[in-house]
Amino acid sequence: MAQKGIKTVEDLLSFFPYKYLDRRQLDPIGDLRTGQRTGTGQRTVIGRIVSSGIVLFRNRRRLFEILLADQTGAVSLKWFHFYPREMQARFQKKAVLMVSGEISFYRGEPQFVHPEVQVVDEELMEEVRAPGIIPVYSQIPGLGQRTIRKIVRNGLDRNGLDRTGLDLFHFEEILPSEILQRHHLPSKAEALREIHFPPPERELASLNNFRSPGHLREIFEELFFVELGIAFKRQTTWREEGISFSWTPEEMKGSIATLPFRLTTAQRRALHEILVDMKTPHPMGRLIQGDVGSGKTVVALLAAIVAIRNGYQAALMAPTEILAEQHYRTATQLLKPFNLTIGLLTGSLPAPLKTKRQSGIRRGIYSLVIGTHALISEGVEFQKLGLAIIDEQHRFGVLQRAALKTKGNPDLLVMTATPIPRTLAMTLYGDLDLSVIDEMPPGRRPIRTEVVESKNRSYLHARISEVIGRGEQVYMIYPLVEESEKLALRQGSGQALKDATRMHAELTKVFPRWRISLLHGKVPSEEKEEVMGRFKRGEVEILVATTVIEVGIDIPNATLIVIEHADRFGLSQLHQLRGRVGRGDKPSRCLLVSDYRKTEEAYRRLEVMTETQDGFRIAEEDLKIRGAGELMGTRQAGLPEFRVANLLRDQEILRLARGEAFRLVESDPLLSFHPALRNELQRKWGERMTLAEVG
Ligand code: ADP
Ligand code: MG
Repeated sequence: MAQKGIKTVEDLLSFFPYKYLDRRQLDPIGDLRTGQRTGTGQRTVIGRIVSSGIVLFRNRRRLFEILLADQTGAVSLKWFHFYPREMQARFQKKAVLMVSGEISFYRGEPQFVHPEVQVVDEELMEEVRAPGIIPVYSQIPGLGQRTIRKIVRNGLDRNGLDRTGLDLFHFEEILPSEILQRHHLPSKAEALREIHFPPPERELASLNNFRSPGHLREIFEELFFVELGIAFKRQTTWREEGISFSWTPEEMKGSIATLPFRLTTAQRRALHEILVDMKTPHPMGRLIQGDVGSGKTVVALLAAIVAIRNGYQAALMAPTEILAEQHYRTATQLLKPFNLTIGLLTGSLPAPLKTKRQSGIRRGIYSLVIGTHALISEGVEFQKLGLAIIDEQHRFGVLQRAALKTKGNPDLLVMTATPIPRTLAMTLYGDLDLSVIDEMPPGRRPIRTEVVESKNRSYLHARISEVIGRGEQVYMIYPLVEESEKLALRQGSGQALKDATRMHAELTKVFPRWRISLLHGKVPSEEKEEVMGRFKRGEVEILVATTVIEVGIDIPNATLIVIEHADRFGLSQLHQLRGRVGRGDKPSRCLLVSDYRKTEEAYRRLEVMTETQDGFRIAEEDLKIRGAGELMGTRQAGLPEFRVANLLRDQEILRLARGEAFRLVESDPLLSFHPALRNELQRKWGERMTLAEVG
């Protein structure tokens, strides 16, 4: 049990069944025959394998048959489509099976054709006559299901009796009763009992979907403590001393007027929210969420101007050198009217230059510093950092965010293009306020998106020629470089994948007159800059690249993006990649190349891309497929792993839990009137949060 992480009674009782079996309608096998009279229907039986094997017919067809029996009779299970090896491995001699399916009759004998089968524990056989809903726990080596159930039962019953000296778990109700009542949630004790030993009148589906009252309570509790932690932490920040920047509306209007375009309403709204934060004497922590190309950077730069006018420095940190370079160029251009000294600091600068820039930062020569991780490396000291801007947050961990923050106590602005639903964002970036830019600058045309089968090379080449014929440029994106063989092997497909390197060679042959460049993670960064520079200046027609160009690259003349093996990318990633084109006023196109006929699933996913350009919708789809944790890197976002909650499935509960948690902290900031909650919070968030600091 310890190997499973079960060391205390609490751990034990938190070890929830992962599914439930319905033993309420289990039929003795002997009763199946009567079905002939009562009509067919769904039946469930448990029995032991008597014999199994492949049956061959003269017409070369074959079937796999199992004869299953209990004390009352026997029934045959049949498969006409099967993999022999898989069947033989799965159905060992004498194994006990729980079988559900439509019963039918062949020559008067009952049979299940392609039934649903679970190999179940030996002991279940004996319990066949014990009706009810049976919890099924994930395997603990050496312990049968029945033993686990017995231990859990023991844990529930002996609650509070510390006879063994174990760290016993108490069922003391921890959630305030008003909250439980408001949301019609059962007590802790009741919830745990229900989860482990559901009463027979429960809906099986509600249990299996984690929607029974007991489950709902446990999910609520788990999310409530996360939100309580966030509420608490936020409150600490609100009390911290920060910089109060001053600005006037006239000044801001003046700054905005220098831009070569009008801000969108969404940009104005975000800017306003930022400015209000900057004025307060507490440190700002704000996330700007907006689709690629929605104009986040411009808004951030306007905020930087405010900091600089107040006599502070501003820093902008990007995840890659290419992006830092690009931001540097954009900033130099857009901020020309402000006459600033802007510094660029990246890891690949020659050492003497780096030292010089660092000293410039220290002496306050640069009012705006743009760079990569190099900004938070040792040796970088700001003279007076007032605003830290971080681009594409998910590339950086929370710790790095913290590192930039310790360089003074600057206001913090984080930009992300990952469009996740609001409640989710508020939890994943719990300590940040959220501004959403949900509007694209005018004049953007939708990017025409098609799914193309990978063998359709001629179509692909025709589209490429067309675009280049108009004097425009093309991206070709590959999911990997030089890794293809390994991946192919791992996936068991003997077919080698064309990687970017090979495609570069191929295209060079197909289009000998055009300039085609190759960019991937292993290209040294100077060369990378060089290649990007040439592409940006239009000296290269086709850029074959891996996902190094994923974020933020802005080249309006590139109007076609071809994404190979599109099915291997997450949808949000595809969306980000697609955002490389459609950045100017010319019509753009995105071709998703895939052997999509391979699976229905792959096709449905890619189809979403052709239907919508709405990053939020795409993210929702992605979430459904991949789960929130993977999408965001939950751990990286600094959140605990969830035991019962599922951020996608439980968004509504999350919203309620958040509401309650924030309300509570507002009315009782130090939780002095809720000592139990306070202790529990301390215990759960432990190292992550020192309540003592506040209290
Ligand atoms: P993001 O950082 O959200 O991906 P950027 O700030 O890089 O987007 O903006 C993308 C492009 O759109 C840039 O070329 C930028 O100058 C331009 N842009 C930003 N805001 C506007 C606007 N309101 N109107 C027209 N163009 C804009
Ligand atoms: Mg950007």
